[in-house]
Amino acid sequence: MTETVNIETKIPPKVVNILQIAGELAAKQGHNLYLVGGVVRDLILGSNISDFDLMVEGDAIHLAQRLAEVTQTELTTHARFKTARVTWTKWNFDLATARSETYDRPGALPKVKPGSLENDLFRRDFTINAMALELNPQRYLQLVDLYGGREDLGKGLVRVLHERSFIDDATRIWRGIRYEQRLNFQIEEETLKLLQRDVPMLDTISGDRMRHELELVFEEECPHKIIGRAEELGVLIKIHPAFKDGGWLADKIGRARNLTLPNLKLPVLYMSLLAYRLNIQECEELISYLRPTRSTARVMRETISLASTLGNLDKADLPPSQAYNLLCGYSLPVIMANYLAGESYVANRHLYAYVTRYRFVKPSLTGNTLKKMGIAPGPEMKEILERLRAARLDRIVTSRTDEEELVRQWREGIS
Ligand code: ATP
Ligand code: MG
Repeated sequence: MTETVNIETKIPPKVVNILQIAGELAAKQGHNLYLVGGVVRDLILGSNISDFDLMVEGDAIHLAQRLAEVTQTELTTHARFKTARVTWTKWNFDLATARSETYDRPGALPKVKPGSLENDLFRRDFTINAMALELNPQRYLQLVDLYGGREDLGKGLVRVLHERSFIDDATRIWRGIRYEQRLNFQIEEETLKLLQRDVPMLDTISGDRMRHELELVFEEECPHKIIGRAEELGVLIKIHPAFKDGGWLADKIGRARNLTLPNLKLPVLYMSLLAYRLNIQECEELISYLRPTRSTARVMRETISLASTLGNLDKADLPPSQAYNLLCGYSLPVIMANYLAGESYVANRHLYAYVTRYRFVKPSLTGNTLKKMGIAPGPEMKEILERLRAARLDRIVTSRTDEEELVRQWREGIS
């Protein structure tokens, strides 16, 4: 029996219209066109969608050019990859030519050849990601399900298409865990055995590809669950052997994701939590494997450097100005990683106060007001402003008049 998928309830009429026209244009060019991969899964599940992957058994660029003309949409082409993107407002339609892939060796990027729908679906990672929807007018929105993806979607199972899948591409191990946790599914029993058998294949994955997988994990709603599961399956230690910590990282990431500090980039915070328990040498190993951006690498290094000096904050009577001085050189993710991971209640009180209050404290007097009081811009003025901030933090002064008075006293002291 052929199933037809209703897409109208999930996407606006103009978008449905573009898909319909694409199918008609392809048919006129004598080719079949399909929606393929994860988008079919998400249409069936009723999840949010913004990118449509389309696959044509013909020239994708040629079709995209016609589609952009007819629907008055924006076109970008990538001749080298024989792909094209048509964009209408926030909606992207990525067109590719059907292809088959072969792997010269595990972990290598695949060799790509033009192919048919069948072999284009066969190269995919999981059955739930290997379905297609016909866009050809005669079979419009009929489901093509060669591997039982529809049934697995109903049962909530993540299943590979063949026994060598994780050997061909071990990043699928991370992808499988990601879908399992995102969708609240289960990795199917046989697939789980293959996954466990093939965990060592993760060593064939370059650091750049591994970093990309981690970035995808960190963009998910439930990165803590994915990290927890990856640890349980022996997958996390493949990033670095030091990552065997009985759920520590998953727990900290779980707490981190509930933070709602403006300007705090959670994926960067997760990277600093990753670094937190490493020593300097291990952290350098991790950085040279994953090759994060220079600023993320800096955050990772500073996280362990702050951790090693956190004892200085472990004093209940530490004046706020001194806590400020110890922390003002560090960025927000560094401080928050130490806040989440640190074990001293007292130090945490200072970290929290720094983030929520101290870092915003400034004297009322500015460079301009000091100039009017006869202080020339330069090192002396800078020092006065710093001392005023400290006095504010320690509540030695609480008003502008107090500050003016204090500056006068300092200057009298000097002369
Ligand atoms: P997401 O919702 O995370 O974007 P997705 O299923 O759309 O999930 P993409 O990474 O956008 O995943 O890839 C689109 C499709 O390409 C997948 O659904 C899958 O069919 C195929 N695919 C992507 N990466 C791989 C891979 N490493 N091995 C096999 N097939 C893959
Ligand atoms: Mg996608």
